[in-house]
Amino acid sequence: TYVVTDNCIKCKYMDCVEVCPVDCFYEGENMLVIHPDECIDCGVCEPECPAEAIKPDAEPGLEQWLKLNADMAKSWPNI
Ligand code: SF4
Repeated sequence: TYVVTDNCIKCKYMDCVEVCPVDCFYEGENMLVIHPDECIDCGVCEPECPAEAIKPDAEPGLEQWLKLNADMAKSWPNI
């Protein structure tokens, strides 16, 4: 899965949302997150993010962001 990280906070350009083929972005007040069970790992969103906030979960050190994406995707609205 891909993960939205801190560069998204207060950004929300939304370019990622427009390209995601499975609509797995969820929106909170300050940032967006990706639902890890819905993301199909296509990678299309990563280069579209002007803030470089989206990263593959294989990258080291993203554990806490992966957990936040998973937790918030359950409580925030799908967009
Ligand atoms: Fe959507 Fe693909 Fe990005 Fe996953 S990697 S969030 S499926 S655009």
